Amino acid sequence: MTGLNQQLQARKQAAIPNGIGITCDFYAERALNAELWDVEGRRYIDFAAGIAVANTGHRHPRIVQAIRAQLDAFTHTAFQVAPYGSYVELAERINHLTPGSHPKKTAFFTTGAEALENAIKIARAATGRTGVIAFSGAFHGRTFMGMALTGKVAPYKQDFGPLPAEVYHIPFPSALDGVTVQDTLKALDLLFKADIPPQRVAAIVIEPVQGEGGFNVAPPELLQALRERCDAHGIVLIADEVQTGFARTGRMFAIEHAGVTPDLITMAKSLAGGMPLSGVCGRADLMDAAPRGSLGGTYAGNPLAIAAALAVLDVIDEEHLIARADALGTRLRHALTEHAHPRIAEIRGLGAMVAAEFRLPDGQPDPDTAASIQRRALELGLVLLTCGAYGHVIRFLFPLTIPDGLLEEGLAILKKAMSA
Ligand code: PMP
Repeated sequence: MTGLNQQLQARKQAAIPNGIGITCDFYAERALNAELWDVEGRRYIDFAAGIAVANTGHRHPRIVQAIRAQLDAFTHTAFQVAPYGSYVELAERINHLTPGSHPKKTAFFTTGAEALENAIKIARAATGRTGVIAFSGAFHGRTFMGMALTGKVAPYKQDFGPLPAEVYHIPFPSALDGVTVQDTLKALDLLFKADIPPQRVAAIVIEPVQGEGGFNVAPPELLQALRERCDAHGIVLIADEVQTGFARTGRMFAIEHAGVTPDLITMAKSLAGGMPLSGVCGRADLMDAAPRGSLGGTYAGNPLAIAAALAVLDVIDEEHLIARADALGTRLRHALTEHAHPRIAEIRGLGAMVAAEFRLPDGQPDPDTAASIQRRALELGLVLLTCGAYGHVIRFLFPLTIPDGLLEEGLAILKKAMSA
């Protein structure tokens, strides 16, 4: 007799394509705050939060209640057909929460990739230019523009070309790989000389902390220099805060750490705590450049997701999750330092967005150690995610609402998995 998980695994193999890669070997039945239970009743501590989606935990009562109330009112009218006030209210709150006191506007979509697609559309419409500059190691989604912007060939874009043209990549700084901010800026200047003049560039897109790319923190001086270059050449600076947003880094948005105000911000994931919702917020003059009818989507700004997002913002505020992120990050860094795994080459991040990078003694990336710690942790009941160019980085994304006791229990499992 095989168990329910195994049965589902066999059916999944037959019914679902290989292209969907899956981390866990169990099938979820229930979740609450920072815990998951599988179809066989086994319980897991969740240090993944659905890839940075559940900053406010799974099924926070306040968010569940908001979704229920909306469910009883209406679930869909299409904002473009019969609009609803909650969308307007959320836009107002996002306009207020994002960096900068200038006039802003916000449009909602459904996925992170869609937010990036639309940010590029808006930047192109506003500037009348076509070029877009992104970074090596970046991840911006699996749609065509998302793939084009993403700075990693395998597995995201190797089999799917041709991709949209006029997208260029420059190196993201990395102390471990000897790439300095000066190197990055030199590459940008070279790009302006060799490939595209700055007057043809519509936008520069950057994650203030690269998510899938390995939790690489953009040095503040890079973000400040990009701001200056963008101002000098009329280029739109887009901060992709899909993974970094909503208190994860100890600020509402990670770019606040650098004191830089971007022209556009893309957001998704923890915006709606598990409901599919994304957004682009930015300078009102830019946001208004796209012609009437050119932005939106049937499900864009779904009312259930909007109701969840309004409750998410309340929870972040009332439960002081911004300060909590800093405290959790400090505790995690301490635990990682204390365990001192010999292959950890660097512990880095901002706030609770922390990762450990594994390297071999000769300095080469060590994905095997990261994978074996991840596997061992899963056997012991802890869900971990990897990231980085070679999958050699373990990232920590527990809900910011995780109780101290549960965090300690998870860290104890991590310690066991690292010493195995
Ligand atoms: N941008 C960033 C920074 C992301 O981390 C992701 C998802 N990991 C995306 C965009 C794409 O979001 P989605 O998967 O919702 O399309």
